[in-house]
Amino acid sequence: WHSEYDVVIIGSGFAGLAAAVEAKKLGAKRVVVFEKMGVYGGNSTLNAGQACFAGTDLQKKLGIEDNANLMVLDQLKAGRGLASEALLRASAELGPYVYQLTLDCGSKYRDHIITTGGTSATRSHQVIERSGAGFIQPLLKTAREMGVETYNRHKFDHLIRDEKGRVIGVEIRRGYHFGKEESGDVIQVRATRGVLMATGGFGYNISFRQAQDPTLTSEVGCTNAKGATGDGLIEMLAAGATPVHLSHIQSGPWASPDEGGFGYGAGFALYNFPHSIAVDRTTGQRFMDEIADRKTRADLELQRRDKDGKPNPALLIVPKAEAKNDPSMEKVLKYNVAWEFDSVEALAKHFDVPLKPLKQQIADWNRYVDEGHDPQFGKRMDAGRGIKLTAPFIVQRLWPKVHYCQGGVQINPKAEVIAAATGQPIAGLYAAGEVTGGVHGVSRLGGCATPECLAFGIIAARSMMEA
Ligand code: ADP
Repeated sequence: WHSEYDVVIIGSGFAGLAAAVEAKKLGAKRVVVFEKMGVYGGNSTLNAGQACFAGTDLQKKLGIEDNANLMVLDQLKAGRGLASEALLRASAELGPYVYQLTLDCGSKYRDHIITTGGTSATRSHQVIERSGAGFIQPLLKTAREMGVETYNRHKFDHLIRDEKGRVIGVEIRRGYHFGKEESGDVIQVRATRGVLMATGGFGYNISFRQAQDPTLTSEVGCTNAKGATGDGLIEMLAAGATPVHLSHIQSGPWASPDEGGFGYGAGFALYNFPHSIAVDRTTGQRFMDEIADRKTRADLELQRRDKDGKPNPALLIVPKAEAKNDPSMEKVLKYNVAWEFDSVEALAKHFDVPLKPLKQQIADWNRYVDEGHDPQFGKRMDAGRGIKLTAPFIVQRLWPKVHYCQGGVQINPKAEVIAAATGQPIAGLYAAGEVTGGVHGVSRLGGCATPECLAFGIIAARSMMEA
């Protein structure tokens, strides 16, 4: 062996770093995190920095009634029968602990809690940076201060198992450069308590994702970090782990076709969906509940087509009076991801939307705001806090991009990886975060990956320290 640790963690996203901190809290002497990319944090840095927790002090302060059970019920509904209640419960019930752990590490939250799609209570807590970096940087700093060793450009290649099949270590490629598969040299690292695979999803592995869902060709954009290629997942499958729901790959309904990757539009749309409308460009009419679950919205957005069947991105029309309260507005205007219009006429002309139906739609919408009821799509009107849609408007185009893989390897509520052949845990092997499958089912709700990845990282650390 080249080196030996109690806990070996592969991947430095939410799941990996939360596990590292928790393992140290529980007294682990030697903990290491290997990250294949030059930068730490993976996909976990590429999001709007929001996490759904139910039953926090901040919610109580704002008069929001909520609890873990409600959160689980919302997620089960979105999961359309494919979500795992046991895994959702394990994660939701740990929510207040996870929230406190992030605070202890130095994350700072805004006072305003966001309403994300498909939720029955307002529960998406957002860090002031409005980016996952607001969680990752404090976790990374804390982990290092606690003595966790972290190595970038160290790629996990293979699991090492003993004659009984127990995972006892890993092969790591040191000095790895992304895209150069043979770069660096290979060392063998021993893990006495266990190996945690926290390697994220496969959104950027186009052939693998297209094998699962043939519609996700290279023409469909992706919000992920480039390292989301699924190599950790594929290695676990080779070791006999049970694959779950690999074809359930979620696209983000807030994505903009006018920029690459996750970009700025996501944060802007996410903040504004509750008090804005999305209209079809050809009809000038709404076509969805703007705060439905992600899959519902992404599917409906993808159906917007011109007469030749080509993509015809919908328009999210936002009242500037409210949009300006969030810094994301400056960003989308600066980078030409959204545009400002003084009147409905100017907006309609610019995007070639039929004026009369659009005007009528806006008038109808404002009546729904007054009445507190949306007869068109049953949107939760309290989420928009009575804000009306008046000029000037900020408009962003909407076209989904691949964002999150609900599928992955099967784990139990202790984050142990389950072997397909036996239905039993593979000794010494744990997984947490996006690399796991079956937690969310058909549709993962917004703001629900971050708390789940953090929670299962923590659970995996606890399991390894008990083992
Ligand atoms: P999660 O949110 O589930 O924690 P992320 O995508 O944020 O997942 O983080 C996963 C991290 O794992 C990324 O930083 C990615 O670069 C890293 N990673 C993926 N595959 C490997 C590998 N083979 N070796 C080392 N790190 C890996």
